[in-house]
Parts: sequence; structure tokens; C-alpha cells
Amino acid sequence: MDKSAHDDLKLLVSRRWDPRVGMGKNQGRFEWALGVVLVIGFFVAVFTRSSATAWVQIFGIVLSYGTLFVLTLSWAYTRCFVKLRIEKRVNKHDGFLCVWCSYPFTGLGDDGHCPECGAGYRKELCQRLFGLAYRKYTPSPQEFGKRESAAWREAIELREHPELVQPTPPPVIKIVVDAPVFSPSKEQRYEIDQLVLRRTDPRKGVGRMLGSIKYFCLVLAISLFFIMNWGIIPANRLNGPGVFKWMLVYIVPFVGFLICWFIPIGIRKRTYAKARKHNFILCPWCRHGLSHLPEVGICPGCGSKFSRWACEQLYLNAYRGFRPSKDELRERETEGWTEAVRIRDQES
Ligand SMILES: [Zn+2]
Ligand SMILES: [Zn+2]
Repeated sequence: MDKSAHDDLKLLVSRRWDPRVGMGKNQGRFEWALGVVLVIGFFVAVFTRSSATAWVQIFGIVLSYGTLFVLTLSWAYTRCFVKLRIEKRVNKHDGFLCVWCSYPFTGLGDDGHCPECGAGYRKELCQRLFGLAYRKYTPSPQEFGKRESAAWREAIELREHPELVQPTPPPVIKIVVDAPVFSPSKEQRYEIDQLVLRRTDPRKGVGRMLGSIKYFCLVLAISLFFIMNWGIIPANRLNGPGVFKWMLVYIVPFVGFLICWFIPIGIRKRTYAKARKHNFILCPWCRHGLSHLPEVGICPGCGSKFSRWACEQLYLNAYRGFRPSKDELRERETEGWTEAVRIRDQES
């Protein structure tokens, strides 16, 4: 084990870094530094109470309360919010997640390499480490510490040397693919239409709610624009002072439309990078990377059934620069979404 691996081990065992509960390495360092500042601020405030000038005291008080506030926020955010989210995943996948990046391994072989961060993994080790972090049993502090230390040592070894792990084949999932003709139900047809028209587009982070608001804002903006500028309202009502303001009222819904468009911009960027990494094979419903899974399978992210063909087709449409012709794109989109909906709703 080299020096950096040793430092990692020290941080992990002392729980100043714990990726299993979503506490990053830098966050641990940050919280530690804040703790030091907090103590310094406290001493400044106490020991200068009688002697120092007012501003030194105020400085001490602000420093200690300020850091205490930030420290509490940072602490509560991980412990309540992030940890709960990962805990749900741990329960869902029975502790078979990447200990470094919490990527779920369900559907992969018992030994292998994490498709997300490349670290080697063994199922038994993942479950052991997550078991230590999330199960309420605690033998004795010494025993517990010993187990943690041994498990992390092994995990670091596998992360540094993924070649130590021989990937085993994924478990076989039997799914019947032959459904000769697919005639979507009314709801399915409606959903496909909405998807093809891009009112909702889960590939780009536009959910049903956001999609509807965005569409409503756009329609309202266009209608108002025409109503105000083409004199559909009688001209005499629009004359006089203040009329200029009213002419521009369509800007309000238009800004709403722009905001809706901007909200998922981070998702779009991340998904684009992910799509390249996974050769455009991502889950159409939750954007989970699926390139390591078989032709037809179940998405570890959302539990929907998928076929690689539909995934690839849909993400090529959405994220590659090519634009064939409007009709062709529409056809490809319809084909892709129909297949995605069909396979998702298929009885197993
Ligand atoms: Zn990983
Ligand atoms: Zn999914």
C-alpha cells in the first residue's frame, strides 16, 4: 500500500470520509477545518471578554456562530438528505453497490469492475461494507473498528488494482421478447404522442410537470403577443398612457418558458457526457447508463424493462448533432419511444 492509499485508509477508518453515506473526502476535510475555526473563534470570544476592544469580541462571536451555522448545515445535509437517499438504494439492491460512487450493481456479475468509476468490486465486500454502515448491529467498538479497517483495506486494494478482479458473467435474465404486433392502448398512445412532440422528454430532464408548464407558458406568450400586437382587442382600449406596458405583457409567460427551459440544463450537460461514455445506451426513463447490461434487461436505476436498441436510437436522436430531416427524425422518435413504452409495460 502506498502513501496516498494509507492516507485514504486513515480518513475512511476515522470516518472523516465515508462515501457510503455520501460524505465526500473534501467535505470531511472542510468540516474538520470548520471545527478548528470554531474552536479558535470560541477561545477568541471567551478570552478577550474583559480586555479586548469591542470589535475583537464581535469578530470572535461572529466567527464562532458563523462556522457553527455552516457546520450544522453541511452536517445535516449529508446525514439527513444524502444518507437517506443512499440508504434507500442500499435496501433496494441489498447492499450490492459501489462503495466509492454508490452505483448499483444489480444485474452485474458477482465480481467485476464498476462501470461508473472503474474500481474493482466483489459482491461480498460491498455488502460487508454497506452492512457496517447501515445495519444497527454493533459488536464492540474495537471489533467494529477492526472489521471496518480490514474491509476498507481490501476495497482500496481493489480500487487501485482492478485487474485483481476477474469479472464474472452477469446473471441471466429471461425475458420474452417476441411480441409480434404491438398495438398501444389509449394511454400509451397519448404518452408516446407527448414524448414524440417533446412536451415531456425524460432524456433531457423534462418531466411531465415541467413539460406542461413550459408548453402552457409558450402558448400563452404567443397568444398574448398576437392579441396585443394585432389589435384583436379594440384599439381604443389600448390607447392612452400605460399602453406600452400592456403591449409587452407577453414577455411574462415568455420568461416563464425560458426559465423552464433553463432548469434542466445541468441534467442535459451531464447526460450528454454520460451518453458518450455509454455509447448512447442510457435508460430512456431515468438516464441510467446501461451499456454494460445485456440486450434486454431491467434498468437498475428505475426498474423499467429496456431494450438496448430503443435506448440507443432514442439517445442518438436526442444527443447527436445529426439532424436527418424533420420527417425522418419524427419517424425515428416514434419508433424508439413506441418500442421503449412497449417493452417497459410488457408483462414478464
Ligand atoms: Zn463506482
Ligand atoms: Zn431507468
